[in-house]
Amino acid sequence: MRTDIMGVGFDDLSLEAAADTGAALARGEGFSYVVTPNPEIVELARDNEDYRRVLNQAALVLPDGIGVIYASRLLGVPLGGRVPGIDFASALLERLAKSGEGVFLLGAKPGVAEEAAQRLGERYPGLNLCGTHHGYFQDSAPVVEAIRASGAAVAFVCLGAPKQEFWMAEHGPATGAKLMVGLGGVLDVYAGRVKRAPAAFQKLGLEWFYRLLRQPSRAGRMAKLPAFLLRAAGQKGKRP
Ligand code: UDP
Repeated sequence: MRTDIMGVGFDDLSLEAAADTGAALARGEGFSYVVTPNPEIVELARDNEDYRRVLNQAALVLPDGIGVIYASRLLGVPLGGRVPGIDFASALLERLAKSGEGVFLLGAKPGVAEEAAQRLGERYPGLNLCGTHHGYFQDSAPVVEAIRASGAAVAFVCLGAPKQEFWMAEHGPATGAKLMVGLGGVLDVYAGRVKRAPAAFQKLGLEWFYRLLRQPSRAGRMAKLPAFLLRAAGQKGKRP
């Protein structure tokens, strides 16, 4: 049972339950992927049926960002709480450091994934980091091959939306990985290049505001949020 937020079906799970599911998928039989849509992604999916399908075919669809939670309340189908992509990623890494499945980091500018790998190795002793690749490639074939050759069970795919979700759905199965997670800018955070908001901002659901202060260039992207919430309010009770 998923909660429909304007065409995207969200899983209503706690962070711990989501991470347990992710860890199980990493040991699973087939290939699956996880997406962490924020309001911007839901808006993109509204106008793009292919993208909507790719999101809805994910094994886990986690609400990243307080905007999705507000929308769920306005729609009268309240989700329990947000599961930020980076928190899911960290909880998953904690589990993988114990169980031993290898992790590949894909995305961000050259050098960032390596730096992230080094820091994650220090933070999660025992974590098997088996490869990295930057996110500015033209040809996917060598990247697929690099993941395959690394033997990674899990790959973090951080190419920005909607590229990362399309990439996981199209190329994921050929990599031999069991699980991919689309995580936007998290490698920049893990590498220490972008700071996360202080805990107080996170608790109050104001992480977006902190990011806006640090990177005013995001204002254009964020201006879409009020329109998103208005649409949610207008759609309450209506079937898509
Ligand atoms: N990126 C990439 N390849 C591209 C475009 C973007 O690897 O072709 C990376 C970019 O360097 C950044 C991430 O994708 O690390 C997207 O970050 P953003 O903050 O836009 O994502 P969000 O977390 O807001 O979804």
